[in-house]
Amino acid sequence: MELIKVQQSLCVKCGICIEICPPKILSMGENGPMASNPQECIACGHCVAVCPQSAIDIGGVSLYTLILIEIMELMESCMMRQTSL
Ligand code: SF4
Ligand code: SF4
Repeated sequence: MELIKVQQSLCVKCGICIEICPPKILSMGENGPMASNPQECIACGHCVAVCPQSAIDIGGVSLYTLILIEIMELMESCMMRQTSL
């Protein structure tokens, strides 16, 4: 399944998303970054977060949703730490 979607009209081919991708699955194609092995995408959202053009989304999930998920996970781990004290 192809997780990342790049809006080619917005992409300026800066390559930042390629550099930051932890499993290094992105490479620059003629029309912007492409995932060589999309099944290896860990949906970390780093490419979405760093894109200066907001040209990437993963599976239709916006950057704001990813930030919200991150905050909720942090709150959950804080609450678990408090209950174990
Ligand atoms: S979501 Fe993460 S793993 Fe997937 S392409 Fe973007 S940076 Fe790479
Ligand atoms: S970070 Fe955004 S603008 Fe830069 S290459 Fe990737 S998709 Fe294109």
